[in-house]
Amino acid sequence: MAAHATAENIKDVEQRIKDWGYGVNTIYGQERTVVGAVGVPEADKADYAERLESLDYVERVIAILRPYKFVSREIHPEGTIIDVKGVKIGGPKIVFMAGPCTIESYEQTLDTAKAVQKAGAAILRGGAYKPCTSPYSFPGLGEEGLKILKQVSEDTGLPIITEVMDPRNVDLVCEYSDILQIGTRNMQNYDLLREVGLARKPVLLKRGMWAKIEEWLQAAEYVVLGGNTQVMLCERGIRTFETHTRNTMDLSAIPSVKQLSHLPVIADPAHGTGRASLVNPMTRAAIACGADGLLIEVHAQPDKAIKDGAQSLNHEHFAELIQECRPIAQAVGRDI
Ligand code: PEP
Ligand code: MN
Repeated sequence: MAAHATAENIKDVEQRIKDWGYGVNTIYGQERTVVGAVGVPEADKADYAERLESLDYVERVIAILRPYKFVSREIHPEGTIIDVKGVKIGGPKIVFMAGPCTIESYEQTLDTAKAVQKAGAAILRGGAYKPCTSPYSFPGLGEEGLKILKQVSEDTGLPIITEVMDPRNVDLVCEYSDILQIGTRNMQNYDLLREVGLARKPVLLKRGMWAKIEEWLQAAEYVVLGGNTQVMLCERGIRTFETHTRNTMDLSAIPSVKQLSHLPVIADPAHGTGRASLVNPMTRAAIACGADGLLIEVHAQPDKAIKDGAQSLNHEHFAELIQECRPIAQAVGRDI
């Protein structure tokens, strides 16, 4: 719809599509409204497009063949910018989200939050609900972990991101967190995707470790169809035959997804490699190939971390990492 379209104009377009016998799905974005017409046969698309385009409150009609419409770049060629308490993700600045894999205590979280903030991170990460391959691993502190994160967010002013695993917990996590993280294991948990689609908090959707790019974008489409257009995609490594690294960080996914979709793209080189010594080079490479942000695991003493110590940077190495990324960001016309 055109920027000047009124609620009445939107209703009119919806009604026309319904009268022609097709489904309607309207997405109310921050900047514009997109009315999706679902089920129009290929042969008739040009005809209907012409009729709708003759209305002055319709900006343009786009025929989409892909299995996802609302996350495709055609819908929003200029790209989506997500605003998290003033931190803009998808704009010219590259955003670092950093913190421990797992919330262990208030003191640990505050200590690391201050360190990453001083180094240049704009968002604090930390897991309260941990998805674990082993049922014997630490499952996270749960709501107590959320309370710690919120307290540290108030102490430091850093917005927070944390994982939500269970559709029944989405409202609870929304009370505490500024961004909802969907983990790799839940990328195709459609009940969870639908539930976060109803939330009004930005969502970071990790790529399933087995998922093709098309499946990942279809998962994002589930969230957007719920009306939540604030979605970012996170490449965190996929399974291959290689065992030297924990996963294979698919850097080519970053420019691929940027071409296919208007959503911001984040890189997670910690889970992508499983090795702290590879986090720095992969972070720089991710920035060079167009990532809008990074998700990095940081711990004061990685050897003592409850989870993912082998891929966590200590405070000093994280500060060095950001310094070393600045020239790379500048080389590709961006800033941190
Ligand atoms: C995490 O971010 O700590 C995490 C569990 O990530 P993933 O879902 O990518 O394994
Ligand atoms: Mn982790």
